[in-house]
Amino acid sequence: MFTPTVNRRCPSLVLACLALAGLFFSASVHAAPEKELRVLATTFPVWLFTRNIVHDCPHVRTDLLIPTNFGCPHDYALAPRDMQKLSRATALVINGLGMENFLNAPLTASIGGPTIIDAGAGIAAPPQPASPHHTNTTWSNPHNHDGMNPHIFSGPKQAAIMTRTIAEGLARIDPANAEVYRAAAEAYAARLTAIGVRLTAIGADAPRKGIVLQHDSLFWLAADAGLEILAVMQTNENAPPSANELIRLTALVRRERPALIAADPQYADRLVRTLAQETNVPAASLDPVSSGPDNAPLDWYETVMSANCQTLEQYFEPR
Ligand SMILES: [Zn+2]
Repeated sequence: MFTPTVNRRCPSLVLACLALAGLFFSASVHAAPEKELRVLATTFPVWLFTRNIVHDCPHVRTDLLIPTNFGCPHDYALAPRDMQKLSRATALVINGLGMENFLNAPLTASIGGPTIIDAGAGIAAPPQPASPHHTNTTWSNPHNHDGMNPHIFSGPKQAAIMTRTIAEGLARIDPANAEVYRAAAEAYAARLTAIGVRLTAIGADAPRKGIVLQHDSLFWLAADAGLEILAVMQTNENAPPSANELIRLTALVRRERPALIAADPQYADRLVRTLAQETNVPAASLDPVSSGPDNAPLDWYETVMSANCQTLEQYFEPR
């Protein structure tokens, strides 16, 4: 009597177990998706760094506030479209050091706005210029009360620090994925640091280290390369050098004979070409990566910086 009972019960028990297992299986497959994290980056470089940290996290959506081709946003004016992006963002990644002064008023006014991740928070001031030729304008910036040049992204070593700072900010907001952010940031930072090491070797081996920059956006790139910035042609986006300043600059370049006059592709290079012709000093373009294409691949920064290294190696290598 007992056996048939068991035989009768067994199929239903097995079925129940299968049903339970099925329920469990379908629950694990169709687990509620992680809450979407909307990360808004202000500038092209911090957007690139952020994307390199979250590329394996489908629940993170990255967006860029300022158009990719805009370049330095010192004088950017927010459009209604931007206010919408800001209101929807969970986190806002900024360059910091005064680069986003245009955001101060809107962010102060908004209550419960995005959590700000200041990518520039971990960057230390560069050593004070040792050269008597070296003017304050190369490392300071009128937009920034702390007096530090805000174009930190143009130095790969600084870019590596910014990447780690962004990852720590994301880890605080989304602790469940902290280790994923940190691991991706470390891998990316290692590649950036390797480019920084290549740059440092250029300056260390160069018989002549002098360089003239078209714009102070290239300061950290030249600083990472250990070059001596003799002058910056234009420190203000909207004010080209005056006739007197150009005369002084021409005299300085003739006297100091820098190895290179570096143009920034963000700006017209007419003055750079004129100065190069007048002084017979070569000019070449270096890209600080302040802007780029909409569809920039993840390794865009590395590609551009490697090309910068190649250009610098060409002009600064021992002959
Ligand atoms: Zn700038």
